[in-house]
Amino acid sequence: MVTSQALFERANAHIPGGVNSPVRAFKAVGGTPVFIDRADGAYLFDTDGNRYIDYVLSWGPMIMGHNHPEVREAVVRQAEKGLSFGAPTELETQLADRICDIMPNMDMVRMVNSGTEATMSAIRLARGYTNRDKIVKFEGCYHGHSDSLLIKAGSGALTLGVPSSPGVPACLAEHTITLTYNDTEGLRQCFAEHGDKIACLIVEPVTGNMNCVLPKPEFLTAMREVCNESGAVFILDEVMTGFRFGPHGAQGHYGIEADITTLGKILGGGMPVGAFGGKRRIMEHIAPLGPVYQAGTLSGNPIAMAAGLATMDIITRPGFYQPIFDRTARLCHGLEAAADSAGVPFTTNHAGTMFGGFFTDAPKVENYADVMACDTKTFGRFFHRMLEHGVYLAPASYEAGFMSAAHTDEDIDKTIEAANIVFHMIAAG
Ligand code: PMP
Repeated sequence: MVTSQALFERANAHIPGGVNSPVRAFKAVGGTPVFIDRADGAYLFDTDGNRYIDYVLSWGPMIMGHNHPEVREAVVRQAEKGLSFGAPTELETQLADRICDIMPNMDMVRMVNSGTEATMSAIRLARGYTNRDKIVKFEGCYHGHSDSLLIKAGSGALTLGVPSSPGVPACLAEHTITLTYNDTEGLRQCFAEHGDKIACLIVEPVTGNMNCVLPKPEFLTAMREVCNESGAVFILDEVMTGFRFGPHGAQGHYGIEADITTLGKILGGGMPVGAFGGKRRIMEHIAPLGPVYQAGTLSGNPIAMAAGLATMDIITRPGFYQPIFDRTARLCHGLEAAADSAGVPFTTNHAGTMFGGFFTDAPKVENYADVMACDTKTFGRFFHRMLEHGVYLAPASYEAGFMSAAHTDEDIDKTIEAANIVFHMIAAG
């Protein structure tokens, strides 16, 4: 057995911070990250011999549970035929057809290798299509780490307290306008002032990168309206929400019409996949059909496509989502009741298969400022004690939690039982 502690010390020698993505380093909560040996269903197994009920799910992708046999077999079958060709395969067409069939508002789609690439390409396309430079995003929304989007971003960027990272040129950052999530008035004012210069508006339809924050219905409607009035492209970043609210994305769930949609995470079933797509008249501006350049050596990788196709098969089966929705709601109600019984100020947000818990006595958490007002120190204690009880939560209070089809009622009960003990411990000081 090699301990996580020993592996982390070794990792730090040649990997900055010992990790290949910052939030994995437990910087926000302190301590040593858990090193994973394997995962199965709802569980992670670390190298120290512990088993955890996993509510991170590789930061979202594993909605069908870890190591699903159908996805694994599809990957193995495809691997036997070769790993990458750099030439077209039928698998790419099959997955594109599948996406355009099940996702609303997508006539054409281009595959990439990550969510970052998807959103970066989508805003380039929007800028090329409109011949405008400015983009609008919301504080606390994270859309990957491309320069234009790493301004007041969420997720790991919040953890480090660098809302805009050094290395992002000021001359680029000045084209990014950042507004307050759920502030319909501020949105309308911005478009009244700058509308004719705005290439696109990009948003997480449900935010999962400043913990889980839900959209007000009038905010969703207003975003579509201001884009219609100004000619800006409306980009729904569904990298996280895509296939988490049912097969039709958050836009199917809320009835929103996007011009471009970005996807990732679940789409690849655990393999590195992203995609952006949307209305034909816009997508036809992408090379080689049009002048907006975008490319990728490994884009449409056959193994990743095979994993994506198997995943799409699983999630489109009738009845796939309802038990996951029900368990998400049950977990949140159980956590709130446990906190109440201990007298710990705590509330939750949840939608579809996403959820978030907040250490606050505020009745609602609706935007970045509300999230920042929560007690992160208490979250850190909660996180570590839950880990000791075999529950793996995201190691920062700015991240949403995720439920999978593999979580059982027993897993939820065990999680609530553990939380009950931990809340009472927190109340005792
Ligand atoms: N957009 C959203 C909404 C995301 O949640 C993320 C990642 N958490 C990204 C984009 C970036 O995706 P990736 O990490 O695959 O580059």
